[in-house]
Amino acid sequence: MKLSFLHLVGKMLYKNLAYYALRPTCVLAGLALLTLPAPAQNQPIRVIAFGAHPDDCDLGAGGLAAKYAARGNKVKFVSLTNGDAGHQSMRGEELAKRRRAEAQEAGRRIGIEYEVLDNHDGKLLPTLDVREQVIREIRQWKADIVIAPRPNDYHPDHRYTGVLVQDASYMVIVPDLVTDTPPLKRNPVFLYYSDRFTRPQPFRADIVVSIDDVFEEKINMLDAHVSQFYEWLPWTEGQFEQVPKDPAERKKWLAASMRGERKLQSEWREALEKRYGAQAASIQHAEAFEITEYGRQPSEEEIRKLFPFFPER
Ligand SMILES: [Zn+2]
Repeated sequence: MKLSFLHLVGKMLYKNLAYYALRPTCVLAGLALLTLPAPAQNQPIRVIAFGAHPDDCDLGAGGLAAKYAARGNKVKFVSLTNGDAGHQSMRGEELAKRRRAEAQEAGRRIGIEYEVLDNHDGKLLPTLDVREQVIREIRQWKADIVIAPRPNDYHPDHRYTGVLVQDASYMVIVPDLVTDTPPLKRNPVFLYYSDRFTRPQPFRADIVVSIDDVFEEKINMLDAHVSQFYEWLPWTEGQFEQVPKDPAERKKWLAASMRGERKLQSEWREALEKRYGAQAASIQHAEAFEITEYGRQPSEEEIRKLFPFFPER
């Protein structure tokens, strides 16, 4: 009895000693966790979006880009053509120069990079040369997320932009290809912009992000593409005469037309409610994306890290 009692006391003393001996180590370890940088967590999210023309990315992901940029993440828009066929009276180099300047102004307005490649508008083909341009862009940007159109579309340039980015997914990690630019260590998540085409299959809204907080910024970005939203597109739709001449008035006109055209689709509601819960009911404007099968397949946990816009669960 006595012996076991002493044994117990001895054990307790030993435990306490061990506790106090360990404590400074724990405190130091705790401090280290607080003060040492956690690179994996604090790295900005890197997003690259491709469009066929200098304004395509803006329409599909301008709001998302503005949200990322506001949080210090890195976004780049790339137009695969220079847009030199998109106007009723200007053309060639003069138009390409104007559209490149408009794209750069659009990027500047929301705090992202915007590059316009020098392939001709209306003549884009899924060649090995352009595929390599796309691979280089994704690698140089060290992209976590890549966004592109689906390869089903009315416009051949849009269609082939979809094919080119599809063809680059996976190849971005293959070291033996495009050897002038180091390969990525892991395949990014590849997304499609939303669209209304239904064959061979309709767009599936996997990730829907509210852009209510940046809607004005998105309009401000589109407003930079004067040659498109106030000249070429209204002209193709027989509305050229209706565009207000005053810059402030025409911007209001653009916002009103955008509201009608790109409003939240009813098919997006389910994905919106899944992540926004009760807040979803009050959301007016959103952008939706489909996760392609060819890139990394993110878990729900990773989706929430890559899209840090949703309320806590
Ligand atoms: Zn386009």
